[in-house]
Amino acid sequence: MTNFAELRRQMIEHQMIARGLRDEAVLNAMSAVPREAFVPSELVEFAYNDAPLPIAARQTISQPYIVALMTSALQLKSTDRVLEVGTGSGYAAAILAQIVGQVFTIERHKILADSARDRLQELGFDNVEVLFGDGTRGWPSQAPFDAVVVAAGGPDVPEALLEQLAIGGRLVIPIGSEMHRQSLLRIRRVSEDDYQQEDLGGVHFVPLIGTSGWQEERSRQSTKEPVTVTLAELIYQSSEHFGSIKEVNLDKLLKRIGNSRLVLMGEASHGSAEFYEMRARISQELIEKKGFNIIAVEADWPDANYINHYIHNTSPDPLLETAPFSRFPTWMWANKSVLKLTHWLRDYNLTVAENNHSVGFYGLDLYSLNSSIEAVLNYLESVDPETAELARVRYGCLTPWAKDPAVYGQLMLTKQYKKCEKDVLATLRDLLKARLNYAHADGQRYFDAEQNARLVTNAERYYRTLYYAEQNSWNQRDQHMFDTLQSILSFRGKNSKAIVWAHNSHVGDARSTQMSARGEFNIGQLVREHYRRSAYLIGFGTDHGTVAAASEWGGPMEVKQVQPAHIDSYERLCHNVATDNFLLPLTKPIKPALRKRLLAERLERAIGVIYRPESELQSHYFYACLPQQFDEYIWFDETRAVEPLNRETSKGVLETFPFGF
Ligand code: SAM
Repeated sequence: MTNFAELRRQMIEHQMIARGLRDEAVLNAMSAVPREAFVPSELVEFAYNDAPLPIAARQTISQPYIVALMTSALQLKSTDRVLEVGTGSGYAAAILAQIVGQVFTIERHKILADSARDRLQELGFDNVEVLFGDGTRGWPSQAPFDAVVVAAGGPDVPEALLEQLAIGGRLVIPIGSEMHRQSLLRIRRVSEDDYQQEDLGGVHFVPLIGTSGWQEERSRQSTKEPVTVTLAELIYQSSEHFGSIKEVNLDKLLKRIGNSRLVLMGEASHGSAEFYEMRARISQELIEKKGFNIIAVEADWPDANYINHYIHNTSPDPLLETAPFSRFPTWMWANKSVLKLTHWLRDYNLTVAENNHSVGFYGLDLYSLNSSIEAVLNYLESVDPETAELARVRYGCLTPWAKDPAVYGQLMLTKQYKKCEKDVLATLRDLLKARLNYAHADGQRYFDAEQNARLVTNAERYYRTLYYAEQNSWNQRDQHMFDTLQSILSFRGKNSKAIVWAHNSHVGDARSTQMSARGEFNIGQLVREHYRRSAYLIGFGTDHGTVAAASEWGGPMEVKQVQPAHIDSYERLCHNVATDNFLLPLTKPIKPALRKRLLAERLERAIGVIYRPESELQSHYFYACLPQQFDEYIWFDETRAVEPLNRETSKGVLETFPFGF
């Protein structure tokens, strides 16, 4: 049986205190209220996750940390009377009711208002009153309030809520000119006519819909557009349809990409062949027609380097002894679709006279602690044996964990990691200091060694934080991927152009997804912030078919059935479009009516190397705003699993070279 009390304790420690939240009254309330009673029964095991969860009426129960943060921002006293707008599940109202004398809460969905009222009553919260109605009008008959909290994001502060604040009262509300991104404001009424406002930072809430909020989607449609046009029909009219990947005409897509220096291509799973094959088709055209010369993928540096040697027809580096992609999940890169591309890249590079125009293949990820340590040591041994000896001693503190680095985080407890951190940095510093000497002999080999040394440094930090702050480690990984991309671009010169292949969750702008509420960013966001309009982000999606995935980390690859998409998802919307495969531009030429209607947040599915159809909603869906997340979306209604290259099926070395299986 799940030990909810223990989960609650961990939530307080890892999600609240670790983030600096120290408000004792709030922490006590968070430890007293059983969050599992407020989430849908099929999701109780996830009740204490650091994330919002879906509830009825396509709404969410807010992330625990956000509830705590907003409650703390209200600066409550036990005698306060508080108004909440956006009851949802009733969880935040229960937290407030633990701290203050009287809570009034308003919800615009009857089904939510009714069930929250019943739930709160059953749990014994008899100091909460729930009203079904439009909270942007406040609750005049119960005003004034000492504090007002709004759990949905509006375009402006509703006048009625300001008026219903007592003098000295605080209003905490997310406000933003875009529907899904807001700043959390605290407004204090200092006198009859004066209010003071503070900005508490960026947040990401569902829209506040009402008289003084956003209009409901139906009434936002342009008057010129007949109401009979469904969103699926609008997508049909606005998209480019195609039959097969081989024959799809990409001219218009290339035009939309224009002069972008970076094209990031996602995938909705790590194991669907169509995503690989379409990205290969687009990459080939970008290389041939627009001079792109970098493919950087969500794979480890040493593995990708092996491919890089192969496609440059340089004999594999004798120091790279093992075949690439031999660590879990092998099928992600050692599959037939990638093999075909490597052969194409090799043939292409043979036709390119100048080395600078040849296409390089690089890895952005940081999971290769062991092989990167080896690569640095091997390199140093060949150019500077004395420094190699020193580096071997310094990396010695990591070697016991290099093959199972996740265990390394436990060093946190013994503080030994401090020495390790210093030692790995010192090795990188030595390499950088000697850059001119080493690089003079062979720039490419020096660059490989430097990237491996950077990887070891970042991986050490990544595994260390993985142990105590999960979302921090996500950010460190994506920061490493972005920094590596920057290094490659600068190594390949100012005219270089890069294609990135990574999961949608890395490539789509994190600010337009639920990730941002957890404080997470990704490569897509960093690229947009840095390169602005010179980057083009493409997402991919599918409804059903088969996928190559494991049931747990390290488990064997299975071919699994992808479930038809959730009714509230963008995927279901695309499935309802009367064509199977299409390209949908989301930014440049897009009908305003389509964009507006797509802006309303929906669920989006993300299948990684693990797929758990049995808990699909919690494990694989998150809320997103598609037209802000990507510049283009490519849809395959049905997809099939990638075909792995493995020893059992290989017929000979030639067929699977350069993977060596
Ligand atoms: N506090 C909730 C909880 O703990 O579960 C979560 C609230 S959810 C993020 C936001 C809620 O605001 C939704 O249930 C939504 O229906 C509601 N909402 C949006 N606009 C509203 C309005 N004008 N009046 C009342 N409720 C509104």
